[in-house]
Amino acid sequence: SYILAIESSCDETAAAVCNDGLILSNIIASQKIHEEYGGVVPELASRAHLQAIVPVVDTALKKANVSLDEIDAFAFTQSPGLIGALLVGTEFAKSLSLGCNKPLIAVHHMQAHVLANLIQSPGKKNETPSFPFLCLTVSGGHTQIVLCEDFLQMKVIGETLDDAAGEAFDKSAKILGLPYPGGPLIDKFAKNGNPEKYKFPEPKIDELNFSFSGLKTSILYFIRDEKLKNENFVEENMADICASVQSRIVSILLHKLKKASRETGITDICIAGGVSANKGLRREFEKMGIEEGWKTFIPAFEYCTDNAAMIAITGYYKYKAGIFEDLSVVPSARAVF
Ligand code: ATP
Ligand code: MG
Ligand code: FE
Repeated sequence: SYILAIESSCDETAAAVCNDGLILSNIIASQKIHEEYGGVVPELASRAHLQAIVPVVDTALKKANVSLDEIDAFAFTQSPGLIGALLVGTEFAKSLSLGCNKPLIAVHHMQAHVLANLIQSPGKKNETPSFPFLCLTVSGGHTQIVLCEDFLQMKVIGETLDDAAGEAFDKSAKILGLPYPGGPLIDKFAKNGNPEKYKFPEPKIDELNFSFSGLKTSILYFIRDEKLKNENFVEENMADICASVQSRIVSILLHKLKKASRETGITDICIAGGVSANKGLRREFEKMGIEEGWKTFIPAFEYCTDNAAMIAITGYYKYKAGIFEDLSVVPSARAVF
């Protein structure tokens, strides 16, 4: 069966088509307008979704070589996210469902990030995690350790008490004068830097939770003090600063993931979300996996940051379970799963 999925929770307008869980197309229009504001402007995001959604959905269908009347169900991101942005995808999916007389499936964006690890592409059969598995979901708005008992049965067993890991990257980048979103730029500069050069603190947080606001403050004061001695400090040491910041964010994440695995005894471990595109995290995660005897899983790059393929795969499991919505469904900015 064919599922058309729409993602519009933040600043990417995306659509994908899957056939029995195999991704046939995955189209993403990233909104450029926010760059000049140094962050996502909600109202501008909603307007950009309105402009992009028809061509993006159209391209996803064409690329998949599937016509609208062949689609068996329409899936969309219902929560969490920017409410105006979510509304565009929600109402568009509802219209398609009504017009084509096919079921409607609401998807939780964070659950979808996790299930990105189960995506299969036609032709290449890759190994997927077995239940129960753990997933470290690290994105622009969330940092969670999720225990997955089944496709749609997930429990958050640890999360950030303040900033998300992606925010820690983006805010650090901003302190260094880099444009938004700074995460990928820190990753790029870190490649040629020495991660041991500058030592930033690791917070002492209970249980499986995280905190990143202290790290951000310590980077802010460190840069301020160094700039007083040498105004070109950042420019002259960009690679080493980025490598040191990245290595600390990664070590905070992986220490808790190791603790979660040891406490639960679960050794099938995934990462997901935009920050799982980070090369330092991917490398250190694999390394820890070898040391700890884990089976490790990382989504392909295009399934780490926001995309509709992950909404399609989650929609597919809901379709199989017969979990549908009627037209009264509304999006929600916040929601637990
Ligand atoms: P959420 O999923 O919590 O609602 P979001 O959808 O905005 O938030 P994603 O698209 O999953 O988040 O991820 C975006 C975040 O990932 C940004 O903070 C961005 O800086 C970060 N990011 C993307 N690529 C990298 C990278 N290579 N290194 C570090 N951070 C990265
Ligand atoms: Mg985004
Ligand atoms: Fe996301």
